[in-house]
Amino acid sequence: MSVSNFRKRLYYDDSYLTRFEANVVEQYRKGDRFAVILDRTAFYPTSGGQMHDLGFLNERPVVEVLEDGGEVLHLVELPFDDERLSGKIDWQRRFSFMQQHTAFHILAQAFLRALRLDTLSSHLGESASTIDIAADDITWEQIEQVEKLVHQVVFENRPVETFWVEKGKLQSLSLRKMPPDIQKPIRLVSIKDFDLDPCGGTHVRNTGEVGIVKILSWEKVRGNIRCTFQAGWRGLKDYQQRVVTTQAIAQAISVTDDEMVKQVIALKASLKQREKQLQKKNEKLLQLEAQQFIENLRRRPEKTWTAAAEQKTPAEIKFLAKTVGREAPAGVIIYSNEEPMFLVVVWNGDNEKDLRLLIPKLQKLMDVKGGGSPNFVELHGLNRNNSQQAIGEIKIFLEQS
Ligand SMILES: [Zn+2]
Repeated sequence: MSVSNFRKRLYYDDSYLTRFEANVVEQYRKGDRFAVILDRTAFYPTSGGQMHDLGFLNERPVVEVLEDGGEVLHLVELPFDDERLSGKIDWQRRFSFMQQHTAFHILAQAFLRALRLDTLSSHLGESASTIDIAADDITWEQIEQVEKLVHQVVFENRPVETFWVEKGKLQSLSLRKMPPDIQKPIRLVSIKDFDLDPCGGTHVRNTGEVGIVKILSWEKVRGNIRCTFQAGWRGLKDYQQRVVTTQAIAQAISVTDDEMVKQVIALKASLKQREKQLQKKNEKLLQLEAQQFIENLRRRPEKTWTAAAEQKTPAEIKFLAKTVGREAPAGVIIYSNEEPMFLVVVWNGDNEKDLRLLIPKLQKLMDVKGGGSPNFVELHGLNRNNSQQAIGEIKIFLEQS
C-alpha cells in the first residue's frame, strides 16, 4: 500500500464537509505556484470528469487541486510557514458539481432504461456538463423520455449512498459499468433501487437535491452522441435566461410565446419577398442611372468616359460600368467616391486590349489589388490620395493605340 493511501480524503465520507483542519506533509514549487500535500483534505482534485474544488487554506486562496501519483496537490501562490492549516471549501461551486455529478448518474441509468443506450463518458465543466452516449442519432422525443424518467427519480427523492467493496465481491453486484481495474477496494455510488456505479466523485444525499435536469443540445462526436445538460441551480439559471430571451423576442415581434415560431418563419418569408422586390426596383433605378451617365458622357469631349458613382455598392458599380461600357466608344472608368474606393475599368474599343496588364502596372506605383478579364477589370484599395494618379495612368493605358 502506498503512503498516499494513509492520507484521508474527507469528501469520500462527507461531501457536505466544508471546513477541516490538517497538517502539512510536504510542500514544493510546481511551475510558478506551490504544491501543498496535507495529511487529510476535503478538497476534491480534478478527476473522473469532475472539476476541482476552490477554496482557502488559512485564508489563502487555493487556485487549483490536482491528483498526482495518488496524492492530492493543493496549488497556492505562496508556501506556508505553519504546520497546521485550516481549510475551507467554496461551497457554492462544490454543491453545483455535486448536483451535476448526481444528475450525470441518473441520466446515465435513464438512458440505459428508457432507450437501452450505454453511457461512454462525461465531463462536468465550470459552465456546462456533457454526457457521451453510444448512439448514432437521437431525437427530442427520445430525450424527453429520458428526462421524464430522470425527474421521476428526482421527485421520488431517493437516497444516494456510497460504500467500499473488496475485490471479488463486484461480480455479485449488478453495476451499470464494470471498472477496468478491480485489484483494490473500490468505491461505489448507489441511487436506491435505480443505479449502482463505481465513482470517486462528490454527490448529493438525496436525488431531490439535484433539482431540474435538462438536456439543452446534442451533437455527433466521433460517431457517438454528446449531450450538453444543466442541473440544479445552473439549470434554474439557464431556464430563467431562456424565459427572459423568449419574452423579449415575443415582445419585439408582438406575439405570444405560442405563436412565436410561426410568426418568425412568416417574417423571414416576407422579408425574403421584400428583398426580391427591392432588388428588382433597384435594378430599374440603376438602368435609369446608367442611361443618365451615358447621355452626360456623350456630351463630353473626352475619349475615355470617366465618372464617379455616389453611394453605390461594388456590385452596383460593376452593373453601371457594364451597362455604360456597352455604349462607350472606347474605355470606361467608373469608381465609388467613398473610401475604401472601388474602381472598374471596361474596354469597348475596336482594337484588342488586355486590361489585366493594368494591374501590375499600377501595383508598381501604389498598393492596389485587382482582377478581371481582358475587357473588364476591378480595382480595390485605392484612396483619395492615389485615386487621381491611378485614373491618369488608366487613361494613358486606354488611349494608347
Ligand atoms: Zn459519481
